[in-house]
Amino acid sequence: MGGRIVHTGNLKVQFDGDRLVSNWNALRNIPLAGTTCGAAVKANAYGVGATEVVSRLIKAGCRDFFVATWQEAEEIAALTTDCSVTVLNGVLGHEMELAVSSNAKPMLNSLKQVQRWQPSGKPCDVMINTGMNRLGINCGEVAEIDWSGLEIDVLASHLASADENVSQNAEQLAAFTAIGNSVPHNRKSLANSAGIALGGGYHFDLTRPGLSLYGGIPRAELSDCINPVGSLETRLLQVRQIMAGDHVGYNATFTANGPMTIGIAALGYADGYGRGFSGSGLLSWEDQSLPVLGRVSMDLVALDLAKAPHLKEGDWIGCPLDLPILSEQSDLSQYEVLTSLGARYERCWNN
Ligand SMILES: *Cc1c(COP(=O)(O)O)cnc(C)c1O
Repeated sequence: MGGRIVHTGNLKVQFDGDRLVSNWNALRNIPLAGTTCGAAVKANAYGVGATEVVSRLIKAGCRDFFVATWQEAEEIAALTTDCSVTVLNGVLGHEMELAVSSNAKPMLNSLKQVQRWQPSGKPCDVMINTGMNRLGINCGEVAEIDWSGLEIDVLASHLASADENVSQNAEQLAAFTAIGNSVPHNRKSLANSAGIALGGGYHFDLTRPGLSLYGGIPRAELSDCINPVGSLETRLLQVRQIMAGDHVGYNATFTANGPMTIGIAALGYADGYGRGFSGSGLLSWEDQSLPVLGRVSMDLVALDLAKAPHLKEGDWIGCPLDLPILSEQSDLSQYEVLTSLGARYERCWNN
């Protein structure tokens, strides 16, 4: 029973392709000449929409894309025939058939994966574990591995704490630098969004920003050049008057001190507007703030319309996808705010 996607017309994310491209250009221009800027588009481009993001970044000149899974590589395959696409999660035995027929390359994450890929004769990338202990081959193992027969494009490692000023950054950089040419490769890559802001030593040949493409600001150095790529917009479903002593929402966590006009909007935690926004979130109408009242429900949220009491059923309200602000309001990471956006939004693009 294939179903048609029908949007209610009450909830949308409005994306601006020019903002996306300007964020990518900003990240591309931070390193000195000689560094290429790629793009992490895993998880459907962090929920923004992989095909929409990839097509715009290709137009802007991006040729290096990073996804997590072979499925994600397939979803952008038609767009990326002239590009380098890396599957970060590597290649397991049961994925070999799909992987060998794909135009994407695996990021080989273990000796076992190196040996599995060797007979394919196809290009690959290699991840080195320099201290994050997530995926990757340990620095100490590198010298003992037979790399023959592999065509390694990108030799990579990943920073665990690039959004903080901690010694782990320099330690990982030193460990990655020490690998030198002991693994044959074309290009080296270390920096994610935050890593780009750490400075020249971290840039190598290719960077892999994700979050900041979509408006995330993991380090203050990026706050001048990175902007939100969209806004979340929802309609009011009902406007009501309440009196002093009246409660709002599940478990009556808000009680009015006096008469109030409140609005109920078509946005809830099933749309990624999590319960963390209860009592702390803020939507707006034009320049007027409409604070969240009480608990966010699954499909609905209550708002104080004191600043815009004329609003009525069907009117649009919203907020910019300002990830640092939404993260602070909700206690979610900037990554989670974005990737939680859910399936009920109509995703609209201008530019
Ligand atoms: C997700 C990811 C990135 C992008 O990281 P951001 O912090 O979103 O810029 C880069 N490299 C690897 C290996 C990743 O998993």
